Amino acid sequence: MKNVGLMTEKNCTGCRACEQLCPVKCIKMTANNEGFLLPQVQEDVCIGCSVCVNNCPQNNKLKLNSIREVLCVKNKDDVSLSKSASGGVFPVLAEFVLENNGLVFGSTYDEEVNVLNIGIDNKDEIEKIQGSKYVQSDTKGTFTEAKIALDSGRMVLYTGTPCQIGGLKAFLRKDYDNLITAEIICHGVPSLKFFKAFLEYLNNKYGRKITGIDFRCKDRGWGNAVYRLFYKKNGKNIKKVVYTDKSSYYDAFLKGNICRKSCYSCLYARGQRIADITMGDFWGAEEFHKNFNSINGASYLSLNTEKGIRYLKAIENKFDYEKSDYKYAIKYNHNLEKPTPISNKRDFIYEEFIKLGNNGYKIFDYDCLKPSVGIKKKITNRLPAKLRNWLKKL
Ligand SMILES: Cc1cc2nc3c(=O)[nH]c(=O)nc-3n(C[C@H](O)[C@H](O)[C@H](O)COP(=O)(O)OP(=O)(O)OC[C@H]3O[C@@H](n4cnc5c(N)ncnc54)[C@H](O)[C@@H]3O)c2cc1C
Ligand code: SF4
Ligand code: SF4
Ligand code: SF4
Repeated sequence: MKNVGLMTEKNCTGCRACEQLCPVKCIKMTANNEGFLLPQVQEDVCIGCSVCVNNCPQNNKLKLNSIREVLCVKNKDDVSLSKSASGGVFPVLAEFVLENNGLVFGSTYDEEVNVLNIGIDNKDEIEKIQGSKYVQSDTKGTFTEAKIALDSGRMVLYTGTPCQIGGLKAFLRKDYDNLITAEIICHGVPSLKFFKAFLEYLNNKYGRKITGIDFRCKDRGWGNAVYRLFYKKNGKNIKKVVYTDKSSYYDAFLKGNICRKSCYSCLYARGQRIADITMGDFWGAEEFHKNFNSINGASYLSLNTEKGIRYLKAIENKFDYEKSDYKYAIKYNHNLEKPTPISNKRDFIYEEFIKLGNNGYKIFDYDCLKPSVGIKKKITNRLPAKLRNWLKKL
């Protein structure tokens, strides 16, 4: 392959490393019909240098790290914990770097509820990045921004999906002592176009413009029981809590029916890791760590490099934690070591979505997206958090 022009939805993750590396800037990331970004090469400008293919993380051997330590952790700051999806690892990592005049990168929503990675240099901005956005976040120009900061000697924390960390490393092409990477455990990502169609569906359903969405709202404790919508009414900010088992988008996301094609053969879903630190939910914390209070969140945290271990030493007093074991973590967290299996609904859903053209939001009334959640799960979702937690310990 001369350049990345032949990369397909199945093997390209959309990380943008090639686009940012191309010396003549002839790669343009373009959304395909499903809404996923892919590189398009302007062949008449390409000089055939192969920098893009020779560095694309999907075409080259990844430099992965063995897991050194596994912890079950929780942020001691309850306010910060309540804004995070899991046990609030991210804000603690970010705070340390920002206190040391560093730069932190991660995923946020903009005013139009697009999802993209940004860099922040102020502690007041940490909450912009907190929380899980269940959609692909666009890395935009953040790899280049991170490189400029790294070259100037600033400390940089880059957080994101493992393929984004892989993309960043491919783009940087060398190790930096002042770079710390933290990846999330990743189930896969729907496209921004599909997510925006869902928002349009909600706008129509509620007769209001949805201004934000918190996929991991903790009103009913830690877990996936409810999510929260934000909208404005008579100038006031309103929050609406919705059961996830009523949401076609949420249900399809959890079932792996709407991921990017490359996610089903994800190279990063394995016991060796690309980042210094891996963070996720510690599903089953109640079972394996009976004295650990996980009502408002518990994180899986693995340290995969010496740098990760050193970094945690500097901030460990900010966490409640217990040493844990990888074998506990994988019992309920399959995406730690294998990709989400492709479902037979996946292609059908996107095909129907494409057929709808500008009326893509109508897909959320189709049978193929009708939520199908068992009665046991529905009852559990409606139990108070403390009772749910107590039952899980049994
Ligand atoms: C699409 C997706 C799938 C996930 N799948 C799993 C899973 O299968 N198992 C599991 O244990 N955990 C999964 N997680 C991770 C989990 O939901 C939390 O994001 C993680 O535990 C960090 O939570 P926290 O409480 O430490 O910090 P928070 O304060 O919630 O921090 C949020 C962190 O997640 C990053 N982030 C949020 N949304 C995105 C996005 N769309 N793209 C890239 N980075 C993002 C931010 O940059 C930040 O680093 C997933 C997250 C996402 C976004
Ligand atoms: S570098 Fe990233 S965006 Fe470019 S082809 Fe490879 S995976 Fe796709
Ligand atoms: S081969 Fe070189 S010039 Fe051509 S697209 Fe790739 S990086 Fe750009
Ligand atoms: S599942 Fe893998 S390829 Fe898909 S977004 Fe996550 S890390 Fe990237």
